[in-house]
Amino acid sequence: MADIIKLLPDHVANQIAAGEVVQRPASVVKELLENAIDAGANSVKLSIKNGGKALIQVIDNGLGMSTTDARLSFERHATSKIQKAEDLFNLDTKGFRGEALASIAAIAHVEMQTKPEQEEMGTHLKIEGSEIIFQEVCVAPKGTSISVKNLFFNIPARRNFLKSNQVELRHITDEFHRVALAHPNITFNFYNNGSELFNLPQVNQRQRIVHIFGSKTNEKLVPVNEETHVVKISGFINKPEFAKKSRGEQFFFVNNRFIKSPYLHHAVLAAFEGLIKSDTFPGYFLYLNVDPGSIDINIHPTKTEVKFDDEHTLYAILRSTVKHSLGQFNVVPALDFEQDQNLETPYNYRDKGALQPKVSVDSGFNPFQEVTQNISGARAYKKQGTESWENLYVGLESKVGMENNFSSLKFESETITGSIFEGQQDNTENNATTFQLRRKYIVTTIKSGMMVIDQSRAHQRVLYEQFLKNITINEAVSQQLLFPLILSFSKSDINVLKEIKDSLTTIGFMFSKVEDGEVKITGLPLMITESEVGIVLDQLISDFQLEITADSFSQTDLLAKTLAKTLAVKTGEFLNNSSQQALVNDLFACKETRVSPFDKPVYVTITENDIDKKFI
Ligand code: ADP
Ligand code: MG
Repeated sequence: MADIIKLLPDHVANQIAAGEVVQRPASVVKELLENAIDAGANSVKLSIKNGGKALIQVIDNGLGMSTTDARLSFERHATSKIQKAEDLFNLDTKGFRGEALASIAAIAHVEMQTKPEQEEMGTHLKIEGSEIIFQEVCVAPKGTSISVKNLFFNIPARRNFLKSNQVELRHITDEFHRVALAHPNITFNFYNNGSELFNLPQVNQRQRIVHIFGSKTNEKLVPVNEETHVVKISGFINKPEFAKKSRGEQFFFVNNRFIKSPYLHHAVLAAFEGLIKSDTFPGYFLYLNVDPGSIDINIHPTKTEVKFDDEHTLYAILRSTVKHSLGQFNVVPALDFEQDQNLETPYNYRDKGALQPKVSVDSGFNPFQEVTQNISGARAYKKQGTESWENLYVGLESKVGMENNFSSLKFESETITGSIFEGQQDNTENNATTFQLRRKYIVTTIKSGMMVIDQSRAHQRVLYEQFLKNITINEAVSQQLLFPLILSFSKSDINVLKEIKDSLTTIGFMFSKVEDGEVKITGLPLMITESEVGIVLDQLISDFQLEITADSFSQTDLLAKTLAKTLAVKTGEFLNNSSQQALVNDLFACKETRVSPFDKPVYVTITENDIDKKFI
């Protein structure tokens, strides 16, 4: 029998390899962007036409190539990034297979202009179907520009397989996002059919995410940070309330390379368990740094799969890190009792830097007439730890002669707030350190002067945190009703109630029936009286109809907010002295004291200095 085995000509081999490396225009984009980054560029421009089918061009200001290197770069297995097999275990570049340019050149019309910094002149090359058809010396700036035209011109089957320009653009945009997210220190510009889609300046990780996904993203992000000997994790997760029905903003980067990992994805999902609905997905941008020797990137031609030496440990670390962030940043309310007080600054205060405390006071302030001071100053407060609160009260301590008795003001987060307006010792009446102003504010002395607290907002804050805790730790106490309470509701109202029934049960409601336009209630939370039930449920229904809550977390939050709003003491209600003091104590036992659940200032302080100034 005659010999039948032949070596494939290079251009055929390249075409076959191209089938693996280049599936669609987006694959070309990825390879070219990665080459630009490997070349040390700090500015990269991407330009495409017709979903990348007509043109993909990447211009960088990186190292550039000599003429010989420029020609060699299109050979298969031609790479400057590794020299021997061991180098694979110490990679700090995106590329290493030396296949991308060879593959792309096999299936498209490619043009390159490149110049290293130290050379006078650059090199201009044209390649079609793996053959160099043009080479000239050219004038060019430092760096490399590669354009890829007529993708799959010589493989009609592949060309026909491509989707609409719109769909291909989406794939390209996805790749662009991945590369841009991994390299916030590089400027990126992206043009589609001549118009600019993205202009991303050099920024930090968080700003890069916001630039790509829009300014609304900022408030969604919860930082994640952990450093162990196995892995360093940084980045952000989206708050559970922003979980989406569709997969989308989910990014893992390992050593700055975007990867897909169902296993690690699962670790993040596990951390979110119970906080989001099972059919929704949390968003995340997680950057893992590991020893390059502990991973193998070489298991997939597009290099989006990575094999880790110690996957199980990584899984455990990732899950607990994400969980920790959710707890630490108060996203999981009241679950984590060992929080670092210093880290409790709410998100909206976090990035604003520490503003100097300042209080603006209306010059016409007179506590016995009208209170009209500008309270916006209170928003600028940096969160103070418990210690500083204790300091605040030092002056008051000596004034009221309670020297050693001040533990009553030590803030226990476990206080039962359901009873704040009753059951307080009556003798506190004599130690009056507070007074009510116009049935609206509670005024109290503090070390540096005085504090004016909005009674309604303060109570909202207290109730809100109490409800959240009850819901989360499932510890609410119910009062059984002697006779069930029957209330009627419209069909749509009943549907809303059915949706939130489980959450209501966790705070102490007991229902024996929720259907056919009727609700039968057999038990109530301690804080709600029979006469208030109707109002509370009405309010809940209307709030839940307005706000579409996609997951249990935001449902819980909204529930707590509505209850707090409905049940809190209002402006105009008289509070006796012990109630006032109980409210102040309970407020300062809260995790957040400065703002109400609706982000309104709860109190203002007026320093002695401020008062002194008025007497000048
Ligand atoms: P790999 O990136 O795996 O090494 P490629 O086929 O993508 O393989 O590129 C081959 C070589 O061409 C690279 O190793 C690099 O030396 C050079 N190269 C490619 N693109 C650029 C660029 N934009 N700037 C400088 N050198 C480049
Ligand atoms: Mg490459």
